[in-house]
Amino acid sequence: MSRRLSWVASAQDEATDFPLDNLPLCVFRRAGSAQAWRIGAGIGTQILDLRAAVTAGLLDPLSAALIEACSQPSLNALFALGTDAVGALRSRLQDLLAEQAPDTNKTAGCLLAQAEVEHTVPAQVGDYTDFLSSYHHAYNVGMMLRPNDPVLPNFHTIPIAYHGRSSSLLVSGEPVYRPRGVQRVAHGSNDTRFGPTARLDLEVELGAFIGPGNRRGHAIPVDEAGAQVVGLCVLNDWSARDIQSWETQPLGPFLGKNFATTLSPWVVCTQALAPYRTEPAPRRPEAPALDAYLQPAGEHWTYEIHLETRLSTPAMRERSLPAVVVSRSLFSRDSVWTFAQMVAHHTVNGCNLRPGDLLGSGTLSGPDVGSEGCMLELTRAGSKPLQLPSGEERRFLEDGDEVSITAFCERPGLPRIGFGQCVARIEQAP
Ligand code: CA
Repeated sequence: MSRRLSWVASAQDEATDFPLDNLPLCVFRRAGSAQAWRIGAGIGTQILDLRAAVTAGLLDPLSAALIEACSQPSLNALFALGTDAVGALRSRLQDLLAEQAPDTNKTAGCLLAQAEVEHTVPAQVGDYTDFLSSYHHAYNVGMMLRPNDPVLPNFHTIPIAYHGRSSSLLVSGEPVYRPRGVQRVAHGSNDTRFGPTARLDLEVELGAFIGPGNRRGHAIPVDEAGAQVVGLCVLNDWSARDIQSWETQPLGPFLGKNFATTLSPWVVCTQALAPYRTEPAPRRPEAPALDAYLQPAGEHWTYEIHLETRLSTPAMRERSLPAVVVSRSLFSRDSVWTFAQMVAHHTVNGCNLRPGDLLGSGTLSGPDVGSEGCMLELTRAGSKPLQLPSGEERRFLEDGDEVSITAFCERPGLPRIGFGQCVARIEQAP
């Protein structure tokens, strides 16, 4: 365990998501206040208020552009400066919070407890794009629709995606309202009815925030695309399967997806993730050779990130039963595409990405029972309900259910770092 030590006592806790080696970024204010939103960095159970740190002169060694970006109410300006600038900020914060740091009184004056704050979505997301990157997700869902040909041939050749909706991006803790919409009266029928979705689902994903982006018409080469991702968060792409299934042909998902997407408040910087780089999953044997624009000439890597999804129902909480783990995913195993390949693909036609844009990895389903990243797969479209410790069953999500996704990196010889929580409770539509 080669963890860097901090004078912030809670950062030494073995179980903390936020040791000095992590320092994820967020946007917050004192809970219940009308304060302007401000940027913070997580350390143990505390947040370092970067606006206060600027005022106290603690960031003076950094460039004027970085200091200005740290005083903003969102992370966009910081992301626009790129991964190296974010790395320079992170190094300065590590110096201030390290065990042997001078001037700790001044820095301590800029700390407040995470329990006393509220968060908002960390960047003003102009555009949000969600990918399809897990072979097992494509296969499992495909088997329900086309048992003879579950994975469409395009899956192996390009990172498939749809354009999501940024207005309904939520920060962890905000309620998700059960959507209403048009759906089939029965499987296979073309008769429809209108009403609340009966097949509300979660999707376990990672989100990637874009740095400087590119000028329209100028594609980002795959070897430079990794540097465009400034940090990752946990993402839940809520889905109404019955609405989705009726509307999706021929133009793709719309109202079945665009009503809510929940993000964890914390952006784990790529510098913090660098020690957990690993080889991407091998290509499927049936996959053809990649087009050159998707094939890195240099280093080709992804991140070893574990994700855990927990479910609790109102009855479980009444009886003080803890939330139960329903799924465990592993990004490096479950995604056949790296974020660099997704960025290269997104821009290859000249489409421009902007600072703070968000890419979703797609549902992260693995090969094993219990590694499926959504209820549709976990319950085989509702035919094998989840059995909960309360004696209840779940085919899809019900009102009052709470879904919590956490993520972490750990490796022998390295400190464990975590992503915090991406949690939300389902409510009846208002
Ligand atoms: Ca998705």
